[in-house]
Parts: sequence; structure tokens; C-alpha cells
Amino acid sequence: MKAIARLNFAHLPTPIEELPRLTAALGGPRILVKRDDQTGLAFGGNKTRKLEFLVAEAQEQRADMLISAGAIQSNHCRQTVAAAARFGFDCTLVLTGERPSQPSANFLLDQLFGAEIITVADRKDRDRILQETFDNAVAAGRKPYLVPYGGSSPTGAMGYTFAMEELMMQLKNLRGLEHGIDWIIFGTSSGGTHAGFVLGQRVFGFKGKILGISIDEPEAELKVHVSALATQASEKLVERIEFTGDDVLANENYCQAGYGVFGEGEREAIKLFASNEGLLLDPVYTGRAAAGMIDLIRRGYFKKDETILFWHTGGQPALFADKYSQDLI
Ligand SMILES: *Cc1c(COP(=O)(O)O)cnc(C)c1O
Repeated sequence: MKAIARLNFAHLPTPIEELPRLTAALGGPRILVKRDDQTGLAFGGNKTRKLEFLVAEAQEQRADMLISAGAIQSNHCRQTVAAAARFGFDCTLVLTGERPSQPSANFLLDQLFGAEIITVADRKDRDRILQETFDNAVAAGRKPYLVPYGGSSPTGAMGYTFAMEELMMQLKNLRGLEHGIDWIIFGTSSGGTHAGFVLGQRVFGFKGKILGISIDEPEAELKVHVSALATQASEKLVERIEFTGDDVLANENYCQAGYGVFGEGEREAIKLFASNEGLLLDPVYTGRAAAGMIDLIRRGYFKKDETILFWHTGGQPALFADKYSQDLI
């Protein structure tokens, strides 16, 4: 395996916990959770694993600022600016949506961590303004590093390639997991988590299936994008592996309402996890992924004797965004 630069600031390995009361409430299969909401940086989440590689790359390139982009309530941007603060980078975030009159949740935290924020009202202007922001920084004599949307570059995908190695160690050492995990279920969007899993599955020999519940992308697009990203990422680590759409399992049935549109499925999932396990999901990603998992369980998609690992990717600060909190209860 090739050497690849990495910082070590995430709290790893993240715990795996049983969810027996949720399992009983749904009538099986056995459900476990992997707590990547506990990765340790600024309320945690999946972007922290990616940032261990992305910030290392920024340091290698002698960058002095990080630039990234996302939605107003982006978890990715919150973790990126926290990492920037921790490692002494300036940070500019290009956020799409209307600038809230009251800062709340991730948008509040971005400012506490010292981000310079540029808001873009219309999503179609986003790429152009991001590019202008980058070019202006260069013109001003800065050395910016562009952290891609969702941290989903081949470098960022390494976070979840090695998360798979971590899981394999846990399966070997944790009691009660001798029979392994049949399914990993998680929310997939910009594809870096998914691509990392797909590559890690191949490299570290995970035997179960990996099902991404789409947050906002058609299944066909996810298959193309995730397999291409996994292929590119493979070259960083080993010999090139050609992944195809057949290597990527995704379900688009739960994202019809659109990104960040909170509905009955998300609400029920959040309440079920909270009231049965004292565990918090978020309204945009893990709420939607869990809603998909719950529906698939009810439809008999899984066998009763199978074991599901719900990979919690974080996002809970968004529970406190004005946009969502009024709809939660
Ligand atoms: C970004 C994010 C995801 C999706 O991860 P991708 O790598 O972008 O597909 C899932 N859950 C949460 C909470 C996120 O913030």
C-alpha cells in the first residue's frame, strides 16, 4: 500500500453500539450503530475523517487558507472551518441560500470558528463565486486550498477507506460480532463516504453489503459518480482498481422531497431513535437514511436473522436550526 499523508485528530475508533430497543420496536433484524457522530471535532460527523487527509494535503501544498462551499446549514463547512482553526488556516466558506437573520446551528458555529462567509442566493451562481473567491485569494498573494463540496475528492475518500479497516478490526475484536455485519446503511450525497467504503470494502475484505440511502441524488448518477471516485481514489493507495456501477448499491426512494426538505419519514425516524435509544439523528442526512432503513425493514427487505450496522454520519447541530426545530415535534 502506498503512503498517504494523514493527520490524526479524529477520536477513533468510534464506538459500535447495539440498539436493542429499536430492534425490538421494529421487530428485527438486529440493528447496531457506528458512532461517527462522535468523531470529536466540533460536534463530530463524517467530514472529520475526510479532513484528516484533506488538511494534511493542504499542509503539504503549504496552503495558508481553506476555501469550501455548501448549504447554509452545511455540516461539512462547520467541520472544515473547525479544522482550519485547529491547524492555523484562515477559512472562507461560500454558502448557498438566503443569509439567515438570526445565526443558528451550523451557521452560528461557522462564525464562532472564524469563517469568512460569502452567501450565494442562487445555487446556479455557486461554482462561479467559489472560483472567484479562490482566484481573488491567489491574486491577494494567499495560498488557498480548495476543499471540494462535501470533502469528496479522492483524497477525502481515504477517510472512509480507512474507516473500513477500522471496522474490520472491530469485527475481529468486539464480542458479539463474530458473525459479522450483513449490511452497512448510511446516507449518501456527495459520494466521498460511499466511494471510500467501496474502495475499503475491496482493499480490506469486508463481506457484507453497503447500501447508501440517497439524500438528494438519483441512483444512476450515484453509481456513476461513486464508482469513478472510488477508482480514482484507488490509485492513491494501491494499483488502480476499475470499479463499475455494479459495485455501488444505492436507493433513491427516500429523497423525492429534495435536499433538506423535512418530512414525515425523517420525523418518525428521529423520534424512534430518540425515544427508544436516547440517540439523536439529524433532520437532513441521518434522519432520511434511517427513514429509508425503517421503511425497508417494514417491507421485509432484510432477513430477520441479519445484522445491520447503521453508520451514523453526524449532523445533529442542524436539529437546532430555526428551519427545522419548529417541525420536529
Ligand atoms: C455530508 C454528510 C453526509 C453525506 O456524506 P457524503 O460523503 O457527502 O456523501 C451524510 N451525513 C451527514 C450528517 C453529512 O454531513
